[in-house]
Amino acid sequence: MRFDENAQLDTSQIDDLRGGGGGRGGGGLGGRVAAGGGGLGVVGLILYFLLTQLGGTGGGGGGYALPGGLGGLAEGETTDTSQAAQSCRSGADANSELDCEVVAVVNSLDGYWSDALARSGVTYQPPRTNFFSGSVRTGCGSASSAVGPFYCPGDNEIYIDLSFYQELESRFGAQGGPFARAYVMAHEFGHHIQALLGTNSRVRPGETGPTSGSVRLELQADCYAGVWAAHAESTPTESGEPLITGITQDDIAAALDTAARIGDDYIQSELGGGQVDESQFSHGSSDQRERWFTTGYETGDPAQCDTFARGVDLG
Ligand SMILES: [Zn+2]
Repeated sequence: MRFDENAQLDTSQIDDLRGGGGGRGGGGLGGRVAAGGGGLGVVGLILYFLLTQLGGTGGGGGGYALPGGLGGLAEGETTDTSQAAQSCRSGADANSELDCEVVAVVNSLDGYWSDALARSGVTYQPPRTNFFSGSVRTGCGSASSAVGPFYCPGDNEIYIDLSFYQELESRFGAQGGPFARAYVMAHEFGHHIQALLGTNSRVRPGETGPTSGSVRLELQADCYAGVWAAHAESTPTESGEPLITGITQDDIAAALDTAARIGDDYIQSELGGGQVDESQFSHGSSDQRERWFTTGYETGDPAQCDTFARGVDLG
């Protein structure tokens, strides 16, 4: 997979809170906060609910109540002076720099989903994506990098510490690569689509188990990621040219490999060193995650991602 060298990147939906300028996520929390916690943090990987359970400022409501105490800069100032906004200008940048790669993937995801939702009469509002390092305050409370990338339904924003991508390879043993990384963002966008469609209201926070609403929600987000993947090469930027080209079978295999590495059973047995306990499943097994990504990719149709349908075979 490559990005069109000449495509313009749009950083307007990115908030770069990484170090340096003292943005609102700038390490002021001092290391780990409650959501992390050693080995447990990994269980919340690519999570959705952990933060909402913590209460915090947002809870399940729509409040966007970031306290001003973390840094002196207003959000706009942080954005204007951010590293990503300054250095991520073109597809060529996306091909060479990790943060710009994520910006480009965000652009593609926004492009696809705004079209797809418009076709079904739903207004698409893009989520903001926050790059942070160490810890961050969100509309769902405070979080540390240990929880992995996540979507906060309290403020409709995505949060990612880009060092997670290194961890995926070093700790989870994933093969990595740009398309595998794109899958992670596409999954988080899947949660945003669920928030726009109201699907997340069908899930009770904290419920677990192989047929729980939580697992259904996560598998659906994987399916939506696959749907985007199916359309990624035909999703144009504002200039009309496809931003992404050359998705290969190896790319798809790398995305599936990542999906498998963050399956509940893999994490419990391979990383947690314990037995597989289905009653604690929150995201689905490795097989299930691969299967639902594949369903989305092979059909290219979000309607085929109804993991909540009566009698659906979750795999
Ligand atoms: Zn998720």
